[in-house]
Amino acid sequence: MSFLSCVECTVCGQRHDPKRILTVCETCGQMLAARYDLERVRASVSKDALRQRPPGMYRFRELTPLDAGEVPVTLGEGGTPLLALPRLAAHLGMRRLWAKDEGQNPTGSFKARGLSMAITRARTLGARGFVIPSAGNAGGAAAAYGARAGLPVVVIVPRGTPPAAIAEAQIAGAHVFTLEGSIATAGKVAAKVAPELGWFDLSTLKEPYRLEGKKTIGLELAADLDWRMPDVLLYPTGGGTGLLGIPKAYEELRAMRWLTGALPRVFAVQAEGCAPVVKAFREGAPTTTAWENPTTRAAGLRVPSPFAGRQMLTVLRETGGGAVAVSETAIQEAQQRVARLEGIWTAPESAALVAALTALREGGEVAGDTEVAMIFTGAGLKYEPPPLAPPVDLAGSDAEVLAELKRAIRP
Ligand SMILES: *Cc1c(COP(=O)(O)O)cnc(C)c1O
Repeated sequence: MSFLSCVECTVCGQRHDPKRILTVCETCGQMLAARYDLERVRASVSKDALRQRPPGMYRFRELTPLDAGEVPVTLGEGGTPLLALPRLAAHLGMRRLWAKDEGQNPTGSFKARGLSMAITRARTLGARGFVIPSAGNAGGAAAAYGARAGLPVVVIVPRGTPPAAIAEAQIAGAHVFTLEGSIATAGKVAAKVAPELGWFDLSTLKEPYRLEGKKTIGLELAADLDWRMPDVLLYPTGGGTGLLGIPKAYEELRAMRWLTGALPRVFAVQAEGCAPVVKAFREGAPTTTAWENPTTRAAGLRVPSPFAGRQMLTVLRETGGGAVAVSETAIQEAQQRVARLEGIWTAPESAALVAALTALREGGEVAGDTEVAMIFTGAGLKYEPPPLAPPVDLAGSDAEVLAELKRAIRP
C-alpha cells in the first residue's frame, strides 16, 4: 500500500484510480497530480527517522507514489548539495544565496529524478517500452533508466540538440531520432508513435509521476534549510515540472505541519529567444500561447508551448513571484561568472538564473537581505563550452617555458 490517495485533475478535479497507468485527465485532457493521505504520512514518519535513512530522493518514500515493497529503478539520484554561494552573493550585494546543484545527479541533470520515478511506476503498472520527446537531458535520462529497467526507449529530439545528450541516449541503447523543429514537434511525433508501438509516452506532465520525482527537489530543499523556506526561488523554466513540483512539495509539507509560513516568491526564468511563460505573465493571460521560432543555446528552455502553462502562471501569481527573460549573452557571461566565483560549471539553463538574479537586483525586486535559492538544473559539461581563449601552449627551452607561463598568468 502506498500513501497515495488518488490522482486528481489539476483543472476539473476529477479523481483517477492510481492502480491504473495514467496519462492526462480522462474528462478534460488536462494535467493530473498525485494526492496523498498526508495525515497518515505524518503519523508514519518523523523528521528524525528521515535523517537516519540513506541519502537520495527515495529517502522521502512516503511522499512518493511507490507501493509498499516496490523497488525503484534508481541510479542514486537526489541528495544533491545545497551550496552556499558567498562569493557570487557578495558580487550581487547579497547575503544569503543558495544553489541546489542538480548537475550532480546521475546523467548530469535533475531529469534523473523525474524519469527514475516515472519509469519505476510505469514499469510496475505494465509498460513494455517508452517514447520520449526531449530537448536533450530528458531523453538521456529516459535512456539510462530504461536500460536500468531492461525496457526499450525511443528518444525524439530536435536537430541541434547538444551532442552529449544524444550520445548519452545512444550509448544506453535507446533508439534516437532527430527532426526539424522543437520539442513541440517531437512531442507530436511521440504521441502518434507511442500507441502504435504499444509503448508509454513520457512527455512532460502528460503522466503524473515525473512531477513526483521533481517534487523531491523541494522536499530536499526544505530539509537542507532545516525545515524553512527561502524568500525567493528561481527556476529555469521549460515544461515547468520543477516549477510546479517544488511548490507542491512545500504545500504537502505545510499540510503535514512540517513547514509554516508563506511559500517563496517563485520566479520563472526563460531565454529571450523562447519566453512563452514570461510573455503570458506580463500580459496577465490565463495560459501560454505557442512561441514562434524558439531559439536558445539553453536547450532545456526551448519549449515553445508548455502543456502546463496555466498551472505555472497560477504558481507565479499566487506566490507573488514573477517571470524574467534573459539574453544569450547574459547567459554566457553568467555561466563564466559562476564558474569563476564559485567553481560550478553549470548548464546554460541554470546560468540563466544568475543572469536573471542580476536583473532582479538591479531592478530592486530582490533586496540585499532576501534569501534566494536557485535550482542549478544541470551540469555545464554536457553542453558545447562557451567561447574561451585557447590554452597557451608551452614549448621551447625551460627558460622560454617559464617566461611564457609567467607572461600568461600576469593579471
Ligand atoms: C529540462 C531542463 C530544464 C527545464 O525544466 P522543466 O522542468 O522542463 O521546466 C532546465 N534545465 C535543464 C538543464 C533541463 O534539462
